[in-house]
Amino acid sequence: MVFYSVIIVTLRCKFNRNKIMAIIITDECINCGACEPECPNTAIYEGAEEWRFSEGTDLKGAIILPNGKKFNADDTQEPVNDELYFIVADKCTECKGFHDEPQCAAVCPVDCCIPDEDQVETEEELLNKQRFMHKE
Ligand code: SF4
Ligand code: SF4
Repeated sequence: MVFYSVIIVTLRCKFNRNKIMAIIITDECINCGACEPECPNTAIYEGAEEWRFSEGTDLKGAIILPNGKKFNADDTQEPVNDELYFIVADKCTECKGFHDEPQCAAVCPVDCCIPDEDQVETEEELLNKQRFMHKE
């Protein structure tokens, strides 16, 4: 009984639905690449790969993100991780606006796509980010 309680508490902590946040890939990643094509925001890149805000979004030229950061959407940005697949937090919406659950976490064979405690955002902030990146 205690054993099952520990499992339940662990799972609740892993995806605490009261706290919404971007997803991060941990060092457990085995570089299988399964998550990359599943991301509706093109927020996932292979290790050492340069990336752009314009990739997989409608963003072009000078942009100011909803969080106030300024970029040129067409400029290449430095890789977040040189060895493992990584998620660009500023492009991740936890799949809000597209799917009911994070698609990267759903397909990852080693469960290494987890909520990023350093990127806590409200559901409204994530939806704003999604609408900012994808004009309708
Ligand atoms: Fe992409 Fe969704 Fe994973 Fe964020 S949670 S990186 S938007 S697949
Ligand atoms: Fe890494 Fe999981 Fe993505 Fe595979 S699916 S590349 S193990 S994060």
